[in-house]
Amino acid sequence: MSAEPVRPPRVVACPSCGAPVAYSPASPWRPFCSERCRRLDLGAWASEAYRIPLREADSGEPGDSGAPDPGEPGK
Ligand SMILES: [Zn+2]
Repeated sequence: MSAEPVRPPRVVACPSCGAPVAYSPASPWRPFCSERCRRLDLGAWASEAYRIPLREADSGEPGDSGAPDPGEPGK
């Protein structure tokens, strides 16, 4: 017996405009409501990607305490 419960498609909010989108094969742009919204969001991501700090382990920050540096005279 294969009793599979019929569940309604999950509805999510479009990350771009907030419109309800059925999370199902019927919505090719899910979780976005349309291709336009998907592009808008991808564009936002792309512009934010440029601001990702690439030098997080920069060894020149006096504020990053934790490990004592025995080779550095008081600046
Ligand atoms: Zn949208």
